[in-house]
Amino acid sequence: MYSIRSLDRLINQLTRFPGIGERTARRLAFYILRQPQEEITRLVDAIKAVKEKVKRCSVCNNFSEDEPCSICRNERRDRMSICVVEEPQDVLLFERTREHQGLYHVLGGAISPLRGVNPEHLDIDNLLQRIKNGSIKEVILATDPDTEGEATAIYLSRLFQPLNVKVTRLAHGLPAGGDLEFADEITLTHAFRGRKEMEKE
Ligand SMILES: [Zn+2]
Repeated sequence: MYSIRSLDRLINQLTRFPGIGERTARRLAFYILRQPQEEITRLVDAIKAVKEKVKRCSVCNNFSEDEPCSICRNERRDRMSICVVEEPQDVLLFERTREHQGLYHVLGGAISPLRGVNPEHLDIDNLLQRIKNGSIKEVILATDPDTEGEATAIYLSRLFQPLNVKVTRLAHGLPAGGDLEFADEITLTHAFRGRKEMEKE
């Protein structure tokens, strides 16, 4: 079969990216091949730099080039509320709505026994510590509106029950079973404003 080995290797690498199928990978590979060398050097440098410079903030577990991150350091933010999200990209979504003035905590996923993700795989201990240490009055559980996200929210609300903190959950109206990523800003803003206190057992 006709093939160009190094091109196949690149296509193969590109298909590992989320949302990139074989066809798109092929288009991208040929595009890369047609670019001048300095363009490719810039691309490779950008990929290397993001991997070398961006680390996890030791406080909120979000990606950051600074330690702690600019949100954790920002004294103008409301230090009495923490918005708990699954992934770093969720922080960007909420920041775009400008609804949340407080801090964040990135769990690094959601509890999913099927996929072997247990509470100890998530950054829950640090979150618990932050709530115990600080002046936190409200914890907003903004995990995804799917089964794993709901299970995680319930788990966390039980965990925080003995603590003197209000635990709220984003309002429904988000695409059920979906990912926060697919919610538009208006829907997300409504869900945030309409958040409800989680029931205590
Ligand atoms: Zn941080």
